[in-house]
Amino acid sequence: MHNCNKSWLNLLFLSMRKIIHIDMDAFYASVEQRDNEALRGKPIAVGYSEARGVVATASYEARKFGVHSAMPSLTAKNKCPGLIFVPPRFEVYHEVSMQIREIFLEYTDLVEPLSLDEAFLDVTVNHKNNPSASLIAKEIQQKIFEKTGLTASAGVSCNKFLAKIASDWKKPNGFFVIPPEEAEKFVENLKIEKFYGVGKVTAQKMHEHRIFTGYDLKQRSETELVKLFGKAGHSLYSNARGIDEREVEPNRITKSISTETTFLQDKNDRILLTVELYHLAKEVMERMQEENFYGKTMTIKVKYADFKQITRSKTLTQKVTEFRQLWPVARDMMKLIDLSEQPVRLLGFGISNAGEEIEKKDTQLELWLF
Ligand SMILES: [Mg+2]
Repeated sequence: MHNCNKSWLNLLFLSMRKIIHIDMDAFYASVEQRDNEALRGKPIAVGYSEARGVVATASYEARKFGVHSAMPSLTAKNKCPGLIFVPPRFEVYHEVSMQIREIFLEYTDLVEPLSLDEAFLDVTVNHKNNPSASLIAKEIQQKIFEKTGLTASAGVSCNKFLAKIASDWKKPNGFFVIPPEEAEKFVENLKIEKFYGVGKVTAQKMHEHRIFTGYDLKQRSETELVKLFGKAGHSLYSNARGIDEREVEPNRITKSISTETTFLQDKNDRILLTVELYHLAKEVMERMQEENFYGKTMTIKVKYADFKQITRSKTLTQKVTEFRQLWPVARDMMKLIDLSEQPVRLLGFGISNAGEEIEKKDTQLELWLF
């Protein structure tokens, strides 16, 4: 797949795509400050202050003190004694997330949400017939602000890898474009930590092999990178050349409904993971309702930093038809995921077990009940 795609014509086509990455600024913290005047301009952390608590998101005021996501709450308190802890409100974050998604869909159906607060958009062809991805990105930022009172950062380039880096470049309320012709040079100077899929563990391994920048990465052969980093070696090889062939994939309808998200940086913070799980579960629930597909078995999938994958499933006695049946179970399943050894690079959630056999059994049960 990787070799046969690299004809010059294909590369030319790939470099002509217009991809936008939108990322909300300090999302959960900004929502809390928006909704509570008393928190505005103050250092706040979304999360619990108790001994084993972790900061999910810190406001920019708190970041000045060195407080950041995934930091233990006690450490955060030491760094910033005036830090105000605010418990997470999953519902509200999800609502805002849906509001911004509606704005994205005004421009294109090719919207791929990565988590609650960020998404890729392919606007090469778009509903507004606007040839400028930069103008679209700015318009979206403006609309998000008008609709939600929150700021987002936007990155524009010819692929997902570069667009995501661009959105992070001028945060918060940032806007940055990496034109295709400048991509390769730009990537050479990029720290290895900024590359897709490079978390703490992979970065450490890179450093051991004296790979610190995109330039260093580019000196290694694809074979060597695959030997060192497995399947990820292929994309690292391409990305080092400013190339990323991945398409923006809107959620597709599948038989068993599931969704997953790969984090740019590995996460071992249970609150943050639970928030992500909430969003995945909401998304699955919405798709279940759209598809009229209801299952009994819930599955959480976790892939750790070393790519070891585990799944945990729970089968209920009845089909799940409402979110209030689903969420308490999913949340409790999350509590059983071991986070003490390694951080998580991918989180997935799915519903299955809605086959004919079960369908019949349920019908029989209902008949019997009535
Ligand atoms: Mg964000």
